[in-house]
Amino acid sequence: MTEQALAVGVAPATVRRETAVAGSVPKFEISEWRERFGVVAGITGRGGESAPFDLGLAGANTSVGQVMGRWRRFRESVPEFPGVVVSQQVHGTAVLWHDVAAGLTILDAADGHATSTPGLLLGVTAADCVPVYLIDPIRRAVALLHAGWRGTAGGILARGVELLLARGSVVDNLLIHCGIGICGSCYEVGSEVFIGCGVAVPPAGRGWLDVRSVLVRQARELGVENVSTSPFCSMHDQPLFFSHRASGGADGRMVAYLGLSK
Ligand SMILES: [Zn+2]
Repeated sequence: MTEQALAVGVAPATVRRETAVAGSVPKFEISEWRERFGVVAGITGRGGESAPFDLGLAGANTSVGQVMGRWRRFRESVPEFPGVVVSQQVHGTAVLWHDVAAGLTILDAADGHATSTPGLLLGVTAADCVPVYLIDPIRRAVALLHAGWRGTAGGILARGVELLLARGSVVDNLLIHCGIGICGSCYEVGSEVFIGCGVAVPPAGRGWLDVRSVLVRQARELGVENVSTSPFCSMHDQPLFFSHRASGGADGRMVAYLGLSK
């Protein structure tokens, strides 16, 4: 827990650790959710140094053919999901509802997706921004958000919760997990980020912000008690994950994913 996280003034969330999944595709998942709820929640990793598992759709590191080849391997590793939906991410707050589980769908600008359709895997790309997983195991609905500081400041978590409630979920049944992103010891930012996230600006005008702790506070304000955070940091755990900041913008992208397998 960082000083900055304390400054946000929220009780720490439960730590929920993603575990590595065996296989040729580097993946980390919340195994407890798969076993208890039939919910698949995870994120791809960096992979081997000689062949990084970059899934970035807008990256300049590798050819489109190589990226799509990795997407094919990723999809083959989740055969219970005939449908996958992702979109161009714009650090906004739009969250889209989906009903169809078929094929790979790449949509225009949106930073969140939600569904109650089994077999549809929601995806967001990330490399420091926080993937936020929302699940309602009773209603059997899920939402996945891409939350950097702009999306967090803009209220994408509230949009995601509102959409699930509008589709029949009850707030008491929601679980929220703030996944693998940059931690409060690695994310040095300026005053505009603190102001946007509703956190006191440090006297120096710059400082370290834990975006996940801001999301935890927001979740609690929305009435969600069951909130957890990942112990991993995309930056200081860079051997395992891609980090935009640690690489000076040169790294690839991971895909966070969430879906109902049955
Ligand atoms: Zn860190």
